[in-house]
Amino acid sequence: MVKAIVGACWGDEGKGKVTDMLAEKSDIIIRFQGGSNAGHTIINDYGKFALHLLPSGVFYNHTTSVIGNGVALNIPYLVKEIDELVSKGVPKPKILVSNRAQILMPYHILFDQYEEERLGKNSFGSTKSGIAPFYSDKYAKIGFQVSELFDDVLLEEKVQRICEQKNVMLEHMYHKPLLNPEELLATLKEYRDMVEPYVCDTVSFLHQAIKEGKNILLEGQLGSLKDPDFGIYPMVTSSSTLAAYGAIGAGIPPYEIKDIITVVKAYSSAVGAGEFVSEIFGEEADELRKRGGDGGEFGATTGRPRRMGWFDCVASRFGCKIQGATQVALTVIDVLGYLDEIKVCVGYEIDGKVTKDFPTTAELAKAKPVYETLPGWNCEIRGIQKYEDLPENCRKYVEFIEKEIETPITMVSNGPARHEIIYR
Ligand code: GDP
Repeated sequence: MVKAIVGACWGDEGKGKVTDMLAEKSDIIIRFQGGSNAGHTIINDYGKFALHLLPSGVFYNHTTSVIGNGVALNIPYLVKEIDELVSKGVPKPKILVSNRAQILMPYHILFDQYEEERLGKNSFGSTKSGIAPFYSDKYAKIGFQVSELFDDVLLEEKVQRICEQKNVMLEHMYHKPLLNPEELLATLKEYRDMVEPYVCDTVSFLHQAIKEGKNILLEGQLGSLKDPDFGIYPMVTSSSTLAAYGAIGAGIPPYEIKDIITVVKAYSSAVGAGEFVSEIFGEEADELRKRGGDGGEFGATTGRPRRMGWFDCVASRFGCKIQGATQVALTVIDVLGYLDEIKVCVGYEIDGKVTKDFPTTAELAKAKPVYETLPGWNCEIRGIQKYEDLPENCRKYVEFIEKEIETPITMVSNGPARHEIIYR
């Protein structure tokens, strides 16, 4: 049985926690898209961890963690992340890297930086992890597949060819130091040695696992609104953040994905630039940011303060729909306990008309939030284990959101730790 865990909004919904929790009952956890550009925060018995590239299942002895072919594989980063876990006392996880994954090259990171520099105030707010240049090269067919590391002749020829091309850009567009083919080749050989112990044909491995009835989790990064097709283009990420892409980024049949657990946060937050209709500012935002998540809403990868906003029903309903959500985990609701009243965005006013459908970016830029105000519950709800024991106004908030997003909320997370979860 294959399940996916994905985000409905801009990311940072708390997918890491939910994956870590569900990983307990899983055999295999797969990353199928993105790279080390976003992070999951996980708190468990070993401590607090920010994972960027490794799947969230790495803390269990019984799980295999797979880096699928759809991932932007930063090899030194992978090794660094594994070493960090081990140094903090986590048993060395079993990790498999797809032989079809492509390699995030050092120059992808440089090009990401140079391009953001060139764009100046029009920059994308990239994490500068090289993700956009990586996927551009993949689809331009000048990427390096892991399997190619093991073919010296091919590697040498390709490195020459790619340096020639990249150096034109570096010299004439960015006015930056040029790439040296010998150095790049040496780096790739180092990468080969680093990644070799993990490389395998993950497609065969996963098909066999499906046949054997193993429990498999697909772990998404970011959320629906960062998807290149359905998100707030162009302020999106460069690989699909949707559960459907799990089939491609892992190489499994789409019909095997039976359950799409979509994580939705009880208020909104976003990192980077882009439209954000229910955004709040000033003291109101600072207060929520300070109290949000676990120790404040700051990016797990960049440490940047997240932009804050009220819950957005329009965006979240669309986010769930486009994921094909079968159930929702509503997270971080405990944080809202300080508010007397809570605003919820129930519609967008665009050119004088109110809509409940999430529009394309140009329309979105004109949208003003239409709010409804719900009563708060004014108390701490961490530690509560049964849904019936939640304050009435808190339950009403959950039920209001459930109706708006048109998807059953089966889990309510009321604290960052692994077992702070209420099943409904
Ligand atoms: P992800 O990228 O979707 O995994 O999200 P992040 O891990 O970046 O952000 C979620 C943040 O909220 C992390 O700091 C989590 O520890 C924290 N978190 C997750 N669930 C809850 C919850 O129910 N309550 C609180 N207070 N924090 C939570």
